[in-house]
Amino acid sequence: MSSSFLNTPIAYLKSVGPNKADLLKKELHIFKYSDLLSYYPFRYVDRTKFYKVKEINADLPYVQLRGKIMDTETLGEKRKQRFKAIFTDETGRLELVWFQGAKWMSEKIKPHLSNEYIVFGKPSEFNGRITISHPEVELVTEENTIRASALQAVYNSTDKLKIRGLDSKGIARMQKSICLLVKNNIPETLAVRILEHFHLISKEESIKQIHFPESPEMLKKAQFRLKFEELFFIQLKLLKQKGLREKSVRGFVFSKVGGYFNDFYTNYLPFELTNAQKRVIKEIRIDMGSGKQMNRLLQGDVGSGKTLVALMNMLIALDNGFQTCLMAPTEILANQHFETISELLKPLDITVGLLTGSKKTKERRLIHEQLLSGEMHILIGTHALLEDVVQFKNIGLVVIDEQHRFGVAQRAKMWNKNAQSPHVLIMSATPIPRTLAMTLYGDLDVSVIDELPPGRKPIQTIHRFDNHRDRIFGFMKEQIAVGRQIYIVYPLIKESEKMDYKDLMDGYESITRAFPLPKYNISIVHGQMKADAKDYEMQRFIKGETQIMVATTVIEVGVNVPNASVMIIESAERFGLSQLHQLRGRVGRGAEQSYCILMTSFKLSKDGILRMETMCRTNDGFEIADVDLKLRGPGDMSGTVQSGVLDLNIADLSKDAQILHSARNMALEILSEDPDLQMMENSNIAYQFAMMNSNKTNWSRIS
Ligand code: ADP
Ligand code: MG
Repeated sequence: MSSSFLNTPIAYLKSVGPNKADLLKKELHIFKYSDLLSYYPFRYVDRTKFYKVKEINADLPYVQLRGKIMDTETLGEKRKQRFKAIFTDETGRLELVWFQGAKWMSEKIKPHLSNEYIVFGKPSEFNGRITISHPEVELVTEENTIRASALQAVYNSTDKLKIRGLDSKGIARMQKSICLLVKNNIPETLAVRILEHFHLISKEESIKQIHFPESPEMLKKAQFRLKFEELFFIQLKLLKQKGLREKSVRGFVFSKVGGYFNDFYTNYLPFELTNAQKRVIKEIRIDMGSGKQMNRLLQGDVGSGKTLVALMNMLIALDNGFQTCLMAPTEILANQHFETISELLKPLDITVGLLTGSKKTKERRLIHEQLLSGEMHILIGTHALLEDVVQFKNIGLVVIDEQHRFGVAQRAKMWNKNAQSPHVLIMSATPIPRTLAMTLYGDLDVSVIDELPPGRKPIQTIHRFDNHRDRIFGFMKEQIAVGRQIYIVYPLIKESEKMDYKDLMDGYESITRAFPLPKYNISIVHGQMKADAKDYEMQRFIKGETQIMVATTVIEVGVNVPNASVMIIESAERFGLSQLHQLRGRVGRGAEQSYCILMTSFKLSKDGILRMETMCRTNDGFEIADVDLKLRGPGDMSGTVQSGVLDLNIADLSKDAQILHSARNMALEILSEDPDLQMMENSNIAYQFAMMNSNKTNWSRIS
């Protein structure tokens, strides 16, 4: 069933040849026919619509016009010739310009009042005049008026390709030549029952329609089919991996809930657990007792109490004679976890250790020994935990806080900290939209805490422009007078670190002026400070010795000071939504009414306005994550960039949630009946799956 057609080297295609083939490989990774056919357009222009000259402005995308050429002119020296044509219809005139191929165009276009032309291109503004450079120009004939009534594909190209004539048009011409060769030689990749169930058109038909849609309806069908297929195979892979792991990797069986858990639960739990916390603790407990190795994502909004859930399950590990560790992305956060957990467990006979980059060699050595002897029960730390020298006597559960800072490779490292892999619980810092979670963590089980602890007052969020700063200072003073503490956060984005740093220091200075000693004490924490200096400042704030904490986003994750009730975010427009939500989550942790004030300049982009509005409208992290996904697309969402799963060719996780759900359910259904894809009716799927996962052939070596 292998398709020799699809595997044909691209150089064999009419008008391509070895040189262009080389360029296509280098620029677009197009090696063979199948690569070209799956190089889909990124949009379509409606060639049925004609604009009038007076409607044209530089903001429009590609436009099509119909009219006459009044006058032409060739300008400049031989080598740098330009060709200009004045185009007109009954509403006005505009200029068409060619910087290349001037001679050729001057022969093609003759101003002649009986000739009507169709002009197609992207308008731009030049010296206050609207021009279209390098438009397509066609003389109107009966034939092309018919042809013009179709959706036309637009392809991405690169500068190097454009020079060689392979602009969007050129790529479309290649697609035309290849589509003319398509005739029952593109194999179906999905099973008949899937096609029937979702009324999908065939693979071959969808490929033809995606490049040359007959109608908007057919284009929709083709897009649906190809998106479905793409998401289906990703889900199939994730679910198959999960199935395989569950079959082949045995997990420690935590068979009992014992003394540590029960003692803590009955005597020392500082508050009643929420129902969501109880449910999730149970889900995790059952999973860790099942005999399979747990790989679970714990999702919950900021402040939903994930730490306590993790701790309760860590106690179960101890009850079953295992050690456990908790890894956090920053030193501040590791310190804080260490303090919270040590404090909570003080009445119990449990040894808790802290391992971070700033620990002295001697202290480290001691920790290493205690881990190996089994004396140390719980280890909390940063990346330092990943180092090979960190070895346990018998680790049974690894908890990773705020996963998005860690990569998959690091997760795997933790797997190898015991002869048999420990259970892994990943706590996500910010809620992720379901579509993203299903794709990024589709091979994990997911638990969601969908309830905040009782008695929290929703944080009031307001947006203010910079010129309101004096009023804000007044408000801060009122809050401090009633005993509250305040965060002021500045953006620090790597690319322009120096400038940001200056902003921070200027801000700090103006705040020290407005809030002078001895009445006011101010802490400052930023990334360029040494760990112990940061920690010192942090501690002062935690203890209430300082009322204001000026900081960069190092404060972002997890930091917990319940008495802090005001979060002021400077240059808020420079933060992404999930980061703003994370920062806001630093307040609203106590019983007092909390506030988040977003400060921005007057100059806000459309997206910027939407971000501010979203923040002011809702406190729901999942809702915010959805807006974020729509604004930024999955590739840009925090920390997901490296993930290959998100290199989607046609599907869009912010728009195709419905298709994704259908695809995942179908993959589940098929795997539950036929886990190894051996049934006859699944042979298409099995073949395609094997093709996609066979070691990717290095096509650059062929040719
Ligand atoms: P996150 O999910 O953002 O990591 P934390 O685990 O830091 O949240 O918890 C936030 C705050 O809520 C902490 O101060 C914690 O002690 C408190 N908390 C957790 N669970 C409860 C509960 N069931 N009732 C009251 N407060 C709780
Ligand atoms: Mg947390």
